[in-house]
Amino acid sequence: IDEARAEGERAFALDRAHVFHSWSAQEQITPMTILAAEGSYVWDGSGTRLLDFSSQLVNTNIGHQHPTVVAAVQAQAAKLCTIAPQYVNDARSEAARLIAERTPGDLNKVFFTNGGADAVEHAVRMARLHTGRYKVLSRYRSYHGGTDTAINLTGDPRRWPNDRGNSGIVHFNGPFLYRSQFHSADEAQETERALAHLDQLVAMEGPSTIAAIILESVPGTAGIMVPPPGYMAGVREICDRHGIVFIADEVMAGFGRTGKWFAIDHFDVVPDLITFAKGVNSGYVPLGGVAINAEIAATFANRAYPGGLTYSGHPLATAAAVATINAMEEEKIVENAARIGNEILGPGLRELAQRHPSIGDVRGLGVFWAIELVTDRQTREPLAPYGASSPAMNEVIAACKSAGLLPFANFNRIHAVPPCTVTDAEVREGLAILDTALSVADAHTAH
Ligand code: PLP
Repeated sequence: IDEARAEGERAFALDRAHVFHSWSAQEQITPMTILAAEGSYVWDGSGTRLLDFSSQLVNTNIGHQHPTVVAAVQAQAAKLCTIAPQYVNDARSEAARLIAERTPGDLNKVFFTNGGADAVEHAVRMARLHTGRYKVLSRYRSYHGGTDTAINLTGDPRRWPNDRGNSGIVHFNGPFLYRSQFHSADEAQETERALAHLDQLVAMEGPSTIAAIILESVPGTAGIMVPPPGYMAGVREICDRHGIVFIADEVMAGFGRTGKWFAIDHFDVVPDLITFAKGVNSGYVPLGGVAINAEIAATFANRAYPGGLTYSGHPLATAAAVATINAMEEEKIVENAARIGNEILGPGLRELAQRHPSIGDVRGLGVFWAIELVTDRQTREPLAPYGASSPAMNEVIAACKSAGLLPFANFNRIHAVPPCTVTDAEVREGLAILDTALSVADAHTAH
């Protein structure tokens, strides 16, 4: 244990000296050290065990260190570590088959990328070339990645400092009943009014100028707002009417997170392109991609696709995907995510909401849940303002961590996003810790 602690201390010192962290003011962060993880747990630098209710960045859908996936990466490393994308490779071919068999409709071709943002970049590029149009519509309260097009598509404050103002992207309000922009009283109204808003926006922007509409099938980081019935089908209809490509961003919601292989499957809608990453191999090796329908694939049948990556379909990453998808199938991991959501996690969070006045809203499905914390249930005043943190939120997060829970937090929300493999007992452990931590939030409420 002393050796592990010394290793952690050395890693921390080197990190502070040399590692430049994402999205951060470098001198204002104190990153947690994690040197070991297994299943639903991680161990911090001092050897303390924490229940990982974040799945890191909502990517370890099969938990940490799944033995058959670790073995598959080791076996692939021994066999063939790397090969250029123009060659056929068995791991890449098999991963593409397994993905194509699970995507809806005729999305049967897969372009592999290194992660989610570049999947989004390429999906947009395909849509622009396919339609010969440039403009892309995306919603406020969304996250699509950190590269140039992806961050400009993003509807959260991380876009602001990156916004070129000439990216050809127009944002709109999607459905979000709890903070409805449409003064809706119920889901049916929210669907109808959000679709009318989008329809009008398309008409005003000029349908013949719009290449694509991109939507997270269930917006993740932005707050897990499950689209109300009929909304996604309505977006599909608007796209069909105007020849607009419908891109479903499944980077966070895909591969079991919502209790189905793809979140779009909840809505019986077939998009034209699906972007994926994270859960495809639980992030054991970086991998993302675009699943492409027959019509868009045909555009590039006799015309070169102007894009590529040295590591497109990297053998280590695709071998990890093959092993991950097979493990998910064999161990019924997607089914577990659905059951946990319906029977334990969803009901458990709703029960907490009955006792904690700081919980304004509970929403989600599968192992994809958010609780929205407020200082006043009547006014719905958030516990941290949009786009920021607050001392009160920081206290709640600290209370979670000190009681052994690693949460995923964003603005005034705590997300409960454990691995799809999480057990009933682990979920109950997480709910019990949230119960304690929420007393800290309750102390900041008006009632
Ligand atoms: N799209 C969505 C919906 C995401 O949640 C993310 C990452 O969180 C991305 C795209 C970007 O993926 P990556 O960080 O792998 O580039």
